Amino acid sequence: MGARHTCSRRVLLAALAIPVTAAAVGGGSRRRPAREEHYFPRHGSYGHHTLAYHLELDYDPRGHRLDGRARIEATANGAIDSVELDLAKLTVDEVLLDDRPVPFRHRDGKLRITADRTLEPGRPFTLDVRYGGRPRPVHSPYGPIGWDRTGDEHDGTLVASQPVGAPSWFPCNDRPDDKAAYTFEVTVPAGYDALANGSLVDHREADGSARWTYHHPGPMACYLAALYTGRFHRETWTEEDISGAPVPVHVACPAGAVDRVRHDLARQGRILRLYTDLFGPYPFESYGVTVVDAELSAPVENQTLSVFGRNHMDGRRGWETLVAHETAHQWFGNSVSLADWQHIWLNEGFATYAEWLWSEHLGEDDADTLARRSRTDLTARRQNLRIADPGRRHLFDDRVYVRGACALHALRLAVGDEPFFRVLRTWHETRRGGSADTPGFLTHARRVVARDVEGVLAPWLYEKRVPEFRR
Ligand SMILES: [Zn+2]
Repeated sequence: MGARHTCSRRVLLAALAIPVTAAAVGGGSRRRPAREEHYFPRHGSYGHHTLAYHLELDYDPRGHRLDGRARIEATANGAIDSVELDLAKLTVDEVLLDDRPVPFRHRDGKLRITADRTLEPGRPFTLDVRYGGRPRPVHSPYGPIGWDRTGDEHDGTLVASQPVGAPSWFPCNDRPDDKAAYTFEVTVPAGYDALANGSLVDHREADGSARWTYHHPGPMACYLAALYTGRFHRETWTEEDISGAPVPVHVACPAGAVDRVRHDLARQGRILRLYTDLFGPYPFESYGVTVVDAELSAPVENQTLSVFGRNHMDGRRGWETLVAHETAHQWFGNSVSLADWQHIWLNEGFATYAEWLWSEHLGEDDADTLARRSRTDLTARRQNLRIADPGRRHLFDDRVYVRGACALHALRLAVGDEPFFRVLRTWHETRRGGSADTPGFLTHARRVVARDVEGVLAPWLYEKRVPEFRR
């Protein structure tokens, strides 16, 4: 997400409202955490891997009621007798395992399903979860996240789940590294639109209802799954419409915002083209921006379909930095995603550096100017962060964003432009569709440039003191 701007509720929470604890910022002189701790230990299961989610969702915007059927294809990681999913406050009516009803218990956000046999490792199985209720955002250290309502009449919906909001609307294995294919069959009243990740493969209206079917081969982490319903003006921009976009760009917004959105996104194609040139081929079948009829604290980079608030489209490109930021996440954050949340700088530092590259491309402040200015700002802060493990409370702290981008700039200064961009391109190329961690990036960079870069990167990532830029 583009949460480093001061209007972000997440930033305010992280920077002001929550006391900085010794545990969060670490202590002593150790450079690396002794062991990895999950920031959200109650979320996700390591017992199985999800192959595909097929979500049939029937949403009534008048009663705010969602009736769902989630068909989940998965394999066991080892021999298991039960399967654990994450699902927040919705009610589960029935669970089938390979089409046979099985017992389950749904409590405190966990859906525990008892298998009628031992599930063998590597053997696919299918779960059918029938559920429903009135979806609501879930509480998180960063405020309410997940499913929410939009529009003055509250008849629209959005999803902004990062990091653990996906269980607000469907049963899932809520880990950033459990990536799957998705199909969404969404039924809403006729006249309402539904938008989801990937491509629209079917749309039909009958008996006062509209069914919208989308498919995204992914693979995609569940926190990046998105659904927007309501009344939208929709456009698809092709390469001819917007200079050089490598894929179709689907734009949806409230009817009253069309002119502002067209103006503010007019350079979206150039942004996609620049990042394709710098980072390698765009990783998915399409890109999209949905502007919802609500004010959002920050946009979110849902896979193939970023979401912005109406407040982010001011008709003056006042938020174009974030348009660039969310676009870059399609490579870094979505296509290459996180092995676990502590490595968040691999998302946010990269996307922030991509903002600086866009500025440089426009002939405005170049990345060196922006990095040195950011370093000065960081130095003035009383507290600094070890961003390779910032602590759950600081996950979306602006220091993770800026210091992460500075780390990349330090690498660029140390190795030169050509090797630096080769590191970024091959990082995406070799991890596309997978997930990654900080030690993996250090190893990768060292291999690509054939020299030790730990001395350049480690002080930015593992220490609190703000390093100097070396040239
Ligand atoms: Zn971001």
